[in-house]
Amino acid sequence: SAVSRFAPSPTGFLHIGGARTALFSYLVAKRLGGKFLLRIEDTDRERSTQEAVDAIFEGMAWLGLKSDFAPVYQTQRFDRYREVIAQMLAAGTAYHCYCTREELDAMRAEQQARKEKPRYDGRWRPEAGKTLPPIPDGVPPVVRFRNPVEGDVILDDLIKGPITFANHELDDLIIARADGVPTYNFCVVVDDWDMGITHVIRGDDHVNNTPRQINILKALGAALPQYAHVSMILGADGAKLSKRHGALGVMEYRTMGFMPEALLNYLVRLGWSHGDQELFTRDEMIALFDLSKVSSSAARFDMEKAYWVNHQYLKVTDPAVIEPEFDWHLRRLGVDPANGPALQDVILAQRERCRTLAEMAEKSLFLYADLQGYNEKDAAKHLTDEGQRLLAELRAELQLVADWSTPALHKAVNRFAEVRGLGLGKVAQPIRVAVVGMAVSPPIDQTLALLGRERTLARLDAAVA
Ligand code: GLU
Repeated sequence: SAVSRFAPSPTGFLHIGGARTALFSYLVAKRLGGKFLLRIEDTDRERSTQEAVDAIFEGMAWLGLKSDFAPVYQTQRFDRYREVIAQMLAAGTAYHCYCTREELDAMRAEQQARKEKPRYDGRWRPEAGKTLPPIPDGVPPVVRFRNPVEGDVILDDLIKGPITFANHELDDLIIARADGVPTYNFCVVVDDWDMGITHVIRGDDHVNNTPRQINILKALGAALPQYAHVSMILGADGAKLSKRHGALGVMEYRTMGFMPEALLNYLVRLGWSHGDQELFTRDEMIALFDLSKVSSSAARFDMEKAYWVNHQYLKVTDPAVIEPEFDWHLRRLGVDPANGPALQDVILAQRERCRTLAEMAEKSLFLYADLQGYNEKDAAKHLTDEGQRLLAELRAELQLVADWSTPALHKAVNRFAEVRGLGLGKVAQPIRVAVVGMAVSPPIDQTLALLGRERTLARLDAAVA
């Protein structure tokens, strides 16, 4: 059955492009009822960091892209790679090469002088009837893969279509360095083979590795996976995606106030479409995602659209699903979510006007923490003598409201305005400044209901004192 994998190198944070590749890979497996594997490609010990590994796990967990297997680390598999190298040496599909650095440099210089493409000239490659050079003393050999010289490798890419590579263009790849350490492309091959990977989905910066990997898989007698190379993501202006465009770590999107499902929804639409549908639940993504409909040209990242998708999610998702994320944002701002109204009620009151949970938390702080003063402009405009007089009168009436609910408060505030021949805004704005600290909030009846009797009355008192 199908097994796909996401195989990041932990040299940086899990950024938005990597997350999209992971999502595509996950969806391909799930659509086929198969499994998804997370593999940490940490063979580059100098550039790999534990911090980056942690960030990958954290990002994947937050996005809910769960590996169906225990995560694999390449650095824990060196024995296995060495074992396969020994088998290949024995089978003659790989060989030792004793070229020194100087020899290789001279080879390259001569080729360049002849205006040829630099390549390994096969001097240690065993051939029938060929005499190899004498093995030099004290030169530890590398191991090279014996790449076929004839024919083509045809990669039938699920996104890009068929791509043909001529074997004579491919060097005899080094699969183990002189110190015995297996090289990157080789590790990937052994892993994909051992782990029964049926679908390799990765960035198209790896396209040129694929014919080499296919040749090694064939030499090992392994079944070939299907390949899909995903185009890169560009900024909205068509330039390479940078921080300025939104090339941020996945967890920065959490801080910005995205719901994980909304971010996935945005990412799945980067290069893929299903008619003109914009919003997809996870189950719909799994049911509908199709690599053959993924565009082979670069997608453009559009931050405004990402916000739009997030807002749509906030508006329609069960508040119980949003609650844990909202809780996280409130705590992040230093407030105790227990010290105020039920979070789901606040979500319902705020979600029409907040595109992100960060914004929602910011705008809901007044419900959980004491006011840190008033917005100056709003106070100057609404907490005038006239405004304060109104607030004092209103306070006396609100104190009589027995059932502190939105409908009862609605009635009380409206009647208060009506009796005085005032528009609702004339009354609501001073109240807002008094209880929220600024002249923006959900409808005033809801705001007061959420804030509660005690806090409302105390803040009205403070505003007229
Ligand atoms: N480790 C590679 C990367 O992070 C991915 C290789 C692969 O998927 O085969 O770019």
